[in-house]
Amino acid sequence: MPRALLRGRWALTPPFHPYPQPLLRGTAGGLIFCDTVCRRALACAAPADSPRSAVWWCPDFPLAGEPRAIVCQRSEATRIAGARKAALDLPRFVAICARPMFWTEDVAAKCVGPQIINDSKTPSGRVHVGAMRGVLIHDAIFRTLRERGIEARYLFGVDDYDPLDEIPAGKGAHFEQFLGQPLCNVPAPDGSTASDMAEHYISEFFQVFEELGVKVEKYRMRDIYRSGKFNEAIDIILRNAATVRRVYKEVSNSDRNENWFPFQTVCEKCGRIGTTEVFAYDGKEVSYRCRPDMVKWARGCGHEGKVSPFDGRGKLPWKLEWVAKWISFPVTIEGAGKDHSTKGGSRDVSAACLRAIFQKEPPLNVPYEFFLVGGAKMSSSKGIGASARDMANLLPPELLRFLMIRTKPNSPVNFDVHEEGIVKLFNEYDRFHDRTVTGKATADEAFVTRLAAPASIEGHEFNANFQLVTALIQMPHLDAVKEIEKRAGRPLTASERAHLEARIRSAQVWVDGYATDEEKTRLQETLPARAAELTQAQRAFLHALADALPDTTWEDDALQSKIFEVARLTPVEQPLAFKALYRVILDKAAGPKAGNLLAFLDRDFLQRRLRELPFDRVQFWKETAVTADELRAWHTKEAAKIASQEHRVNVEGAVFSTEYTFTLTDGKRVLRRVVTEGTPAPEGVLA
Ligand SMILES: [Zn+2]
Repeated sequence: MPRALLRGRWALTPPFHPYPQPLLRGTAGGLIFCDTVCRRALACAAPADSPRSAVWWCPDFPLAGEPRAIVCQRSEATRIAGARKAALDLPRFVAICARPMFWTEDVAAKCVGPQIINDSKTPSGRVHVGAMRGVLIHDAIFRTLRERGIEARYLFGVDDYDPLDEIPAGKGAHFEQFLGQPLCNVPAPDGSTASDMAEHYISEFFQVFEELGVKVEKYRMRDIYRSGKFNEAIDIILRNAATVRRVYKEVSNSDRNENWFPFQTVCEKCGRIGTTEVFAYDGKEVSYRCRPDMVKWARGCGHEGKVSPFDGRGKLPWKLEWVAKWISFPVTIEGAGKDHSTKGGSRDVSAACLRAIFQKEPPLNVPYEFFLVGGAKMSSSKGIGASARDMANLLPPELLRFLMIRTKPNSPVNFDVHEEGIVKLFNEYDRFHDRTVTGKATADEAFVTRLAAPASIEGHEFNANFQLVTALIQMPHLDAVKEIEKRAGRPLTASERAHLEARIRSAQVWVDGYATDEEKTRLQETLPARAAELTQAQRAFLHALADALPDTTWEDDALQSKIFEVARLTPVEQPLAFKALYRVILDKAAGPKAGNLLAFLDRDFLQRRLRELPFDRVQFWKETAVTADELRAWHTKEAAKIASQEHRVNVEGAVFSTEYTFTLTDGKRVLRRVVTEGTPAPEGVLA
């Protein structure tokens, strides 16, 4: 490290501790990670022979143009104190603190040596979005490993030798005759350009991978079987059929009779694979029968035959297929959904078979919970909920990744596509992003943000708030991009513009496909009928706001503060004030930040609308009045906060409204009203 970098002040943050040993491979050529910002492997500036006093720095952690050094002592504070005494003039010192790691780092910390991650999907229909959770969990692990300098591959299998056992929603006529056949042998539905059904459905899924930047090495089980890659594993597993039967019984308590062999051939007569049963293996060929009554969803032809189990003439049942993948590739990390990861479940069965037959340990499991939309687990065959394609249309890539990985795998993710849920997701992402860009994020926040948005972590200083964008695109007289530029006070940069356009697309998809009528933000051309439900106080608030508008700067924050002030001076509770506004403008009970909304509207239009609903003055006074005793009690309680006060009296017939306006020490003004008949409230009510 150039001496010039070793300047500045020590700022030591105890307690620090050595990094987990597996990560400290080697010495100066080994890896230490930036713990504060990027968590990438740090460059080493120390002599190769003195790892214990090494100075490491993170090139991605610049401060005023100068790389900030991260000094990672492997050992205890005394070493650092020693270095300090030696009068090394070191820059800001960031020590490694004991703190919980992001879950992908936990996984990475358990890894030694090169890693092979595997995930798979059976393309039996449109792939539902729930399947994206596994894909993105594995992707996050993969990218964390790579960042750590750990050699890793991410394999993704298409289980297209599985039988067609369920007909995709709405496609009965086409697929029924093929039930029981391997998916890769079933023709694609009419109108598809794909070579077969499996390709038809998986290609849509892989398109989503592309958009999300998920880089996998794809393989298809038809190729694996037909190329003979699994021949050896098939042979060993068939020779150990008795062991498999014993494991099934011991682990999952399921009985397989002595003639059962873990293999299914493609029937030479009818082409089905889901209906065949193997009952013998002589080391070269298996004997099988195609049973009419084996499964409920398909009828075998009754054929009996003898055939080689190799080179694609059949497949292993999927629990053993798992074993063959683990042993052949060989897989070191493979998470499984919660439904497979229960005790005695398929994952346990596969792991026990692997141990019993191959004397190997299974890959690291990262069990993950379901992804739920609006609380319901989605099913592709029933066509409930959204497919991965639908969800990728709704959410920009970084939002979808954020949604899937920020929650620990063992907790369910419940995504609500209603307004409240989607707005919350976007806002939370924006908060993480802003905090990361401004350096205020915690290490975990910065880490998850960077995993979610690897390419677009910079910028977006302007406000492309999702709720605001959604409101903007629903106002026919506005151009959303121009409005946002007006707010930014300058033209948007290319990346800001791309970011905004992605939000506009999402907002449009949401409005067209997901928003309920009540959730749609339609600027009301005339006063909505439901405005008649507003109280006299809410109506009076709208009138008072109309009166205040000419003197208000036509800008988000000024308008927002004005709404609050007028509410305090009416007085009306703030939520009721906002509800009244949304009702007369949008015919809704809620909406985007009101200051934003108002700023987009024409001032004259708004004033007219706010005054359109008449109100009864006396009724309004009575609704908002307090008794003289209540006023005195309030005044006593708040006395310390009151800077000054004034009062005036209004009269309507025999009804008097005595109004006290208090200016508080923080500059805010509030109003209290006492209503009396015949005479005003006695003077000196507050004396
Ligand atoms: Zn058959």
